[in-house]
Amino acid sequence: MAASRVISRSFDYLVIGAGSGGIASAKKAGALGAKVAIIEHGPLGGTCVNVGCVPKKVMFYAASHAESLHDHQSYGFDISADDKIFNWPKVKKERDSYIKRLNKIYESGLEKANVELFLGHAKFVSPNEVLVNDVTLTAKHILVATGTKPIIPDVPGAKLGITSDGFFELEELPKKVVVSGSGYIAVEMAGILRALGSEVSLVIRRGKILRSFDDMLSDALIDEMKHSGINIIPHSKITSVAQQPDKLLEVSVSPFDGEGEVKSLSNVDCLLWAVGRDANVNDLQLEKAGIEQDKSGFIVVDEYQNTNVPFIYALGDVAGKKLLTPVAIAAGRKLSRRLFNAEDVKLDYENIPTVVFSHPPIGTIGLTEAEAIKEFGNEKLKIYTSTFTPLYYALTSRKVKCHMKLICVLPDEKIVGLHIIGMGSDEMLQGFGVAIKMGATKDDFDNCVAIHPTSAEELVTMK
Ligand code: FAD
Ligand code: NDP
Repeated sequence: MAASRVISRSFDYLVIGAGSGGIASAKKAGALGAKVAIIEHGPLGGTCVNVGCVPKKVMFYAASHAESLHDHQSYGFDISADDKIFNWPKVKKERDSYIKRLNKIYESGLEKANVELFLGHAKFVSPNEVLVNDVTLTAKHILVATGTKPIIPDVPGAKLGITSDGFFELEELPKKVVVSGSGYIAVEMAGILRALGSEVSLVIRRGKILRSFDDMLSDALIDEMKHSGINIIPHSKITSVAQQPDKLLEVSVSPFDGEGEVKSLSNVDCLLWAVGRDANVNDLQLEKAGIEQDKSGFIVVDEYQNTNVPFIYALGDVAGKKLLTPVAIAAGRKLSRRLFNAEDVKLDYENIPTVVFSHPPIGTIGLTEAEAIKEFGNEKLKIYTSTFTPLYYALTSRKVKCHMKLICVLPDEKIVGLHIIGMGSDEMLQGFGVAIKMGATKDDFDNCVAIHPTSAEELVTMK
């Protein structure tokens, strides 16, 4: 029998993972004249495009339509929210074909940038050799940008549930949903499903959701979620999942700390785990390259995205810091400028704005009030808050409040934290993010003439 032929190819830059970070870095390196290859074993675009930001935002928009149906009569349209007939399969079909178009756009983008694409699973065979299919690729610089994957907890019957990946495969709107988790994905998906008409229970381990966010945001969101009809089950954990004879699920819930009554949620047609993500490094054979991981499995990098192995770098989700698409993209482009254009650049991980596409959405940048107190002390801070009902709700019976907070440090009232929840917060944040990144003070905000009538004007008129 003939031995299989091993081909060897060499590059200036080899990128493992064609997601947000990998593609951005590969294309930048190509534009700077490097000979670049990228390896991908799934659809191009990674998590964000295929099972993350993009399809999620489409579903957020669908849910926003469902919500505004409640307001149509108040604005003179003779349509009742009870008339709503939501066609989930139609939206899913359109969404899937939109994503297929994006996959193609990414493919041609790589071609145009002179990045050679290898389809297959990458694994290290030595620090500077990566095997994909039967091809060994070597490179002067290697980037690991393999992202993360959702965690399924170690609970009996857990595999009867789905994760956010499975959410995007659902062919119908589930009738009765249990969501486990209290972070971004849990609140976003619970909100979407509830707005579209599912009965939703959210099982959380403590009394709060989004615990790392400013209290004002997590308190306001949990109130709105309860108000929308989501059944919040606090201080609880799911202890087992079983299939009923009719294939629906029975989910057992116990107190998170200590002993107590076990509750049972029956006739559940969708259990969604949203309890965090693990580094996607299985079968990558990091040990063959000697790449260091932290105790959770994320790749350890310094501020320049260097791993412990010279000429191997990691960024984006797999490096475990700020799991956001624009962070992976920015870190990827900066790394390529440093490697192939001799620029001394690195991503500044301070003051990264972020939005939760909850109902209503949240926008946040900088320190929470608790963090600011810890860093500066209460006496050094001046906190401005405002709560109001946006003008949109003037005519409607549905009223969803907007809450805003500015955290300023004396004596010049430099703004170190800005937190908003309410209609439009998602689109409001970016510009204020620029101002805060530039070191804006409360005076700078006040010196900008308000735009009336908007919700955003409140941020430049706070007393
Ligand atoms: P990824 O995009 O995950 O790319 C990694 C790629 O590597 C994948 O394509 C994978 O197939 C490939 N790969 C892995 N191992 C191998 C291997 N051995 N060989 C070959 N290929 C391999 N962020 C936001 O900023 N805004 C949002 O609204 C938002 N919404 C989200 C919603 C959901 C449901 C989820 C799950 C995430 C969301 N995120 C959002 C986070 C965002 O998707 C990630 O931060 C981002 O995709 C990370 O990019 P990355 O390049 O690090 O990894
Ligand atoms: P998160 O880290 O945001 O939240 C997961 C939360 O689930 C934990 O904080 C924890 O909260 C709880 N949890 C952890 N383990 C368990 C368990 N075993 N049982 C029950 N609850 C548990 O993770 P996500 O998966 O929601 O999202 C991953 C990341 O993806 C996010 O951090 C974000 O960076 C990114 N993302 C960004 C989005 C955006 O930009 N809009 C949208 C979606 C994702 P507690 O300790 O309170 O129980």
